[in-house]
Amino acid sequence: MSEKNDRAAWIKGGEVSCSNPPRTTPDRAWRLVLLGSPGVGKGTQAKLLHEQLGACHLSTGDIFRAAKILSERDRSPALNDALEYMRLGKLVPDTTVLDMVRERLHCLHCANGFLLDGFPRTVAQAEALEKLLQKEKLPLTAVLNYELPLEEIMSRLGGRRTCSGCKAVFHITNMPPRVEGVCNFCGAKLILREDDRPESIRVRMEAYEKSTRPLIEFYQKRGVLVSITAEGSPEEICRRTMSKLDSVIAA
Ligand code: AMP
Repeated sequence: MSEKNDRAAWIKGGEVSCSNPPRTTPDRAWRLVLLGSPGVGKGTQAKLLHEQLGACHLSTGDIFRAAKILSERDRSPALNDALEYMRLGKLVPDTTVLDMVRERLHCLHCANGFLLDGFPRTVAQAEALEKLLQKEKLPLTAVLNYELPLEEIMSRLGGRRTCSGCKAVFHITNMPPRVEGVCNFCGAKLILREDDRPESIRVRMEAYEKSTRPLIEFYQKRGVLVSITAEGSPEEICRRTMSKLDSVIAA
């Protein structure tokens, strides 16, 4: 199954709606949280899982990246502050992130479900999400925790190149573009994301260890954690994920 993936409602917020055709008979709504350290490949998996499951890819990082192209005057003070945290590789304050997610509550109600990528990232965010989902009667199907050794993560992050136009992601050795420095899809220049620079990577890894890793135990205690080895090609990892999800729904 391959679906159009319009994420306008999530990325832009407000009254904007997506142009995805509604599914008249969804098999089920997959409500998944993707966990794992920066560089583990959550974004790539979210795209592949969207193709398999139809659930919307909701990345909080994508909202901030989209906000960057607005002029400073068109951004709220909280959003300007958020972009500065992001530039340094630091976590944006919980209140800002939670306000953004609450403003997009309707996306959590999507008939096909959701794939939360990069949110929650702290225990406070996970607790707030839990309350929100309980109130809205939207139980999580599972929390997918992608695992990879640290050296592999560092190599993935340092070699990642992002298209300045369509935001497609490449890797200088694992997934090189056909022409060095040029996007295969739209021909725009490939860039090193500000937060993929070595200094920002170090700060992001520290933030992950301190703030996000505790979520593994948080979700383990709730019986929804599914751990997945993130080694191999993106397609292999996706197949592994699908087979784990089969076991979850069979249980
Ligand atoms: P990502 O694309 O998920 O790696 O996010 C990029 C950056 O956006 C992070 O390094 C943070 O600065 C910020 N960010 C994204 N999501 C969150 C979140 N849930 N909590 C705090 N900061 C976030």
